[in-house]
Amino acid sequence: MNEFARAAIVTGASRGIGRAIALRLAEAGMRVAVCARSAAIMSAFDDPRIMPFQADVGDAGQVEALVNRVLERYGRIDAVVNNAGITRDGLLMRMNDVDWEQVLKVNLTGTFNVCRAVIRQMLKQRSGRIVNITSIVGVAGNAGQTNYAAAKAGIIGFTKSLAKEVASRQVLVNAVAPGYIDTEMTQVLNSQQKEAIVNMIPLGRVGRVEDVAELVNFLVSDANQYITGQVIHVDGGLAI
Ligand code: NDP
Repeated sequence: MNEFARAAIVTGASRGIGRAIALRLAEAGMRVAVCARSAAIMSAFDDPRIMPFQADVGDAGQVEALVNRVLERYGRIDAVVNNAGITRDGLLMRMNDVDWEQVLKVNLTGTFNVCRAVIRQMLKQRSGRIVNITSIVGVAGNAGQTNYAAAKAGIIGFTKSLAKEVASRQVLVNAVAPGYIDTEMTQVLNSQQKEAIVNMIPLGRVGRVEDVAELVNFLVSDANQYITGQVIHVDGGLAI
């Protein structure tokens, strides 16, 4: 492994979109630290370029420990992808405190915890790329997902504010908003619901994890020199 290769952290990478992002960044030549809450992350990759950690992004202490270990190992952090996310769907009328708080904690506070833990290093380096995974739901809203939509909309405001805060040190911060991507998270939908969604997607198909990973790879690469504070949709045109 090239000890001078650029280094990245991808959260929530044991499966789905996060796993595809980690693989794409490794393929692009980066050293990639990945995390997830459950032990599954420790055996999710058989790839010397990818270093797994068990950490809950909702826990600031665990996130700091993760970032410290990555810095000890790599000596730098060039890119961070805040991908870890959960849903706990339900109508507002019936939503309990735990479902509200957990979704905010993982999606929004998790993004805050990771960004706060890495930002000093990026400012010191005078370079860095952060990509926060939001959702079409954070832009358009969705019945049954007030908690998730609030968290994902929060990520958008957070991203724009942080982009302004750190731009003078060449740290670029963007959000990516997937539409409907085929992962475990969306497997809870029944075939009728899926068909209804596909009928609304101009490109006529659901998204693949690689569709998201490709954009994230560009945004964190050196090829991106002038895009910051943006929310870029990867949704086959669903949000149009
Ligand atoms: P999955 O449920 O397939 O994967 C989620 C990943 O996050 C898993 O690796 C999970 O591992 C990890 N994770 C969950 N909670 C935590 C935590 N507290 N700390 C660390 N890791 C955690 O989701 P997707 O791949 O579908 O989604 C990835 C991201 O994309 C999410 O932010 C989601 O909101 C967003 N998104 C997805 C869309 C889709 O259509 N699939 C659409 C729009 C946005 P573990 O359970 O072991 O912790």
